[in-house]
Amino acid sequence: MQRYDIVIVGAGITGCAIARQLARYDASIAVIEAANDIACGTTKANGGLVHAGYDPAPGTCKASVNARGCALYGQWSRELGFGFNRTGSMVLGFSETDREHLEHLLENGRANGVPDLRIIQGDEIREHEPRANADATCALWCPSTGYVDPFEVAIAAAENAAANGVEFHRGARLDGVDRDDDGRFILHTEAGDFSAKTLINAAGNGCGEVSRMAGGEPFEMVWRQGNIAVLDHEETPLMPLYPIPTPVSKGVIVTGTVHGNTVITATAAIREAGDTDTYAADVNELLEGARKLVPDLDTRRVVRTFAGGRAVIKGLNDFFIAPSTLAPGLFQAAGIQSPGVASAPAVAERMDALLHEAGIALPEKPGWNPLRERPVDFDSESTERKRALIERDPAWGRIVCRCETVPEAEIVEAIHRTPGAVSVEGVKRRCRAGMGRCQSGFCQSRVVRILARELGCSPSDVLLEDAGSQIVFGPLKEVQA
Ligand SMILES: Cc1cc2nc3c(=O)[nH]c(=O)nc-3n(C[C@H](O)[C@H](O)[C@H](O)COP(=O)(O)OP(=O)(O)OC[C@H]3O[C@@H](n4cnc5c(N)ncnc54)[C@H](O)[C@@H]3O)c2cc1C
Repeated sequence: MQRYDIVIVGAGITGCAIARQLARYDASIAVIEAANDIACGTTKANGGLVHAGYDPAPGTCKASVNARGCALYGQWSRELGFGFNRTGSMVLGFSETDREHLEHLLENGRANGVPDLRIIQGDEIREHEPRANADATCALWCPSTGYVDPFEVAIAAAENAAANGVEFHRGARLDGVDRDDDGRFILHTEAGDFSAKTLINAAGNGCGEVSRMAGGEPFEMVWRQGNIAVLDHEETPLMPLYPIPTPVSKGVIVTGTVHGNTVITATAAIREAGDTDTYAADVNELLEGARKLVPDLDTRRVVRTFAGGRAVIKGLNDFFIAPSTLAPGLFQAAGIQSPGVASAPAVAERMDALLHEAGIALPEKPGWNPLRERPVDFDSESTERKRALIERDPAWGRIVCRCETVPEAEIVEAIHRTPGAVSVEGVKRRCRAGMGRCQSGFCQSRVVRILARELGCSPSDVLLEDAGSQIVFGPLKEVQA
């Protein structure tokens, strides 16, 4: 049985951020993840917005980590080499009642430490975003808002944690917890048993179950589902535009992305746990909501719709980041509904502080390296650099995904990083092969062949995503990868 000082359950953006934060200490740390890859839970199904923090009610846990997380994103993106655009955002108002809501958000934001918030009107709205609805009479201008690719953040944090000694066990669903005579947790998983002195619950929608198994708080979880639509690339990505929020969500938001797409995010409805279906009514709500913010948005350019579930603790519209009061040694990062992406670096910082406050010995690790080398993104390289890469290895010139210009060598690198891609979707999350307009219609069979070759298996063993999701059931015809 492998023994660790700390085991983190869940390799979403929360667990990976915590792993990256704790990797600076001289402690043995592992992350156990039920899925066969990083970022397969809600982290792969959200709007990627780094909300600034004017929404949460002051004094809540969310309020304390949202603005701080947003502030930390600049440093995290520089150190970890992921894309982050701090574009600023506007909440658009169309009436006097809306203006009152904006005043309320302004006060909230100031109380939560959100910098430089202002209510603006008239031409200043169009100066910030020329495509914003001309009927908007007022707006809350928030310069600190930005956006990221959420799986890139989680993967970057995981890679940096792994480079500093954290071990990742994927395909390791926690399905039982015991204690040994020394009070250590014995963690029973599909990938074998692990022993941990300290257990961190970052299991997203699974956090109620993990807490229960470990003897912690009896969280009852609610799946607050949201649909999202992705549109093809725009020449100039849109600044995030928000409507006046609803009591349970920020409403339908339109935003650019770090890759130049437009995203319309998100609806909110309580649905059965695990429901990732998209619904016509939700998609219509998205398109209508988006047109209200950006009337000239060509909503025929949708390339994909998808859905995810916010992990809401019933009766608590807040995050729960605290040591368990019932199970000594268990620390909760639970109920990380929205804004879990925006807050992740601060949730990690908070977890670090909680472990210290609990008296856990965490000496600094000599040689800890906070920097991660960003993988080559061929499409964004200069022509000279592209030429040099192709001269070094012709696989850089063999374009596999034509929508997103992803060459074979970039896919091979994605497979061989640590932790590397083990599925078609894992390749897509790391280098965007299959993410474009044709949604992998052209490149999927080629990605399957490359995965089979690099992983040393047959194409019929290659997975789309989870265990059992093979996509090839017979010999492939000879296609040049
Ligand atoms: C539609 C939608 C839009 C959103 N938009 C935004 C946004 O724009 N900005 C923002 O800040 N937030 C947004 N959010 C919220 C954000 O996506 C989440 O807060 C965040 O992804 C939570 O990350 P996590 O790591 O806590 O959970 P997850 O990503 O769900 O990760 C938890 C992991 O734990 C694993 N796990 C569960 N149980 C077990 C077990 N027993 N054993 C081992 N592993 C286990 C799961 O497999 C999963 O990989 C949105 C959410 C939704 C649904």
